[in-house]
Amino acid sequence: MDTIYALATAQGKAGVAVVRMSGARAFDAAKALCGEMPMLRQAGLRQLSWNGIELDQGLVLAFASGASFTGEAVVEFHLHGSVAVVAAVLEALSQQPGLRPAAAGEFTRRALENGCLDLAQVEGLADLIDAETEAQRKQALRVLSGAVGQRADSWRRDLIRAAALLEATIDFVDEDVPIDVKPEVLNLLDHLLQTLTREADGTKIAERIRDGFEVAIVGAPNVGKSTLLNILAGREAAITSDIAGTTRDVIEVRMTLAGLPVTLLDTAGLRDTTDRIEGIGIERALQRAAQADLRVFLVENDLELPGLKPMQTDIVVRAKADQQIGFGLGISSVTGEGVDDLISEISVRLLGQSRRAGTLIRERHRIAVLSAIRSIELARNQILLESLRVELVADELQHAIRDLDSLVGRLGVEDLLDEIFSSFCIGK
Ligand code: GDP
Repeated sequence: MDTIYALATAQGKAGVAVVRMSGARAFDAAKALCGEMPMLRQAGLRQLSWNGIELDQGLVLAFASGASFTGEAVVEFHLHGSVAVVAAVLEALSQQPGLRPAAAGEFTRRALENGCLDLAQVEGLADLIDAETEAQRKQALRVLSGAVGQRADSWRRDLIRAAALLEATIDFVDEDVPIDVKPEVLNLLDHLLQTLTREADGTKIAERIRDGFEVAIVGAPNVGKSTLLNILAGREAAITSDIAGTTRDVIEVRMTLAGLPVTLLDTAGLRDTTDRIEGIGIERALQRAAQADLRVFLVENDLELPGLKPMQTDIVVRAKADQQIGFGLGISSVTGEGVDDLISEISVRLLGQSRRAGTLIRERHRIAVLSAIRSIELARNQILLESLRVELVADELQHAIRDLDSLVGRLGVEDLLDEIFSSFCIGK
């Protein structure tokens, strides 16, 4: 296999730039530049030169095969973060036999192939690199640390125990007092079904933590939706005016609330209209608001909105509280009254939703778990039959095990790998 190399830090000027190599020729290639190698895992200051020309002075760090991120021999050069230095070092490496530039995500792919990470951990790593908020960081780190693999292992153990218990009964059929294992098997399966169903539901929330919760601000035209969005976002994101029907499309602003990524949606004012274009805007507003994770209803004079009613979980606030007095939470974009309360109310509700996230984080995980659930349900139904056929149950349990194994990439995920690694940057 080729030895690969790449800049591991971001492109451009920086304090330090890290170039790393992985593969059988990594140590030789490093020696060709820096002379004597430092002790393993100990940084050594070295002069790097190539063809008699000095390239830079930097730290060299070497990891033996079997004790590195990729599982192969790895060397890192910690260079001065200069575009010219990095270019010169990469050029020198490119001239060495058996070395080639790494493809996007290739270091991580080697880590997966060498069993240093499982597939879920690779996904966790991708998410950690993309993480912009506190909740995203925590979620990604949990997955990177191997939480999915641990859960999958314990589910797998339960399935194997259920299968083993049933198979044992076959050996006992001729005995006078056969042990009835059904209650214990059903107990194991019911417990698994509960856990897996919760996990499948939780992936939706985990996806929100990764991609953002949508919060739609809805209300009649001119009630102050755009002004509120601007205040919440802290910048002029929507056009405000006192002509009804200004926000004809949906305006999105991304922000972080309580460590959660949030996309605020400013939607067209809801009212009965004969204007065709405004009608399309209203239709879109209704659709987006219906799909949003949370709706903030901004109401003036307790008017009902055509086409949309607040649900129990939505937030209803009184608009223009500087002008109208009333009950409940009132906000004023003029005096700033109620804005902090609204922000904490939105945060509390989204944090409440985010607690339903489990260990699994992707649609891929949800599909695998749903398939496992189906197999376990079939096995369970078979057990409840008078004419129980143990081999059919065992078959279904095997299916479920295979589905759960795909979470960590033991089986049936080869075609997914290209897609997963395409989201990685070069050098990772
Ligand atoms: P939208 O159509 O619901 O997006 O409403 P806008 O945000 O465009 O606001 C409509 C008008 O109401 C503008 O002239 C705003 O300056 C005004 N406005 C918005 N919020 C308040 C508020 O809290 N108090 C008062 N008095 N006026 C407001």
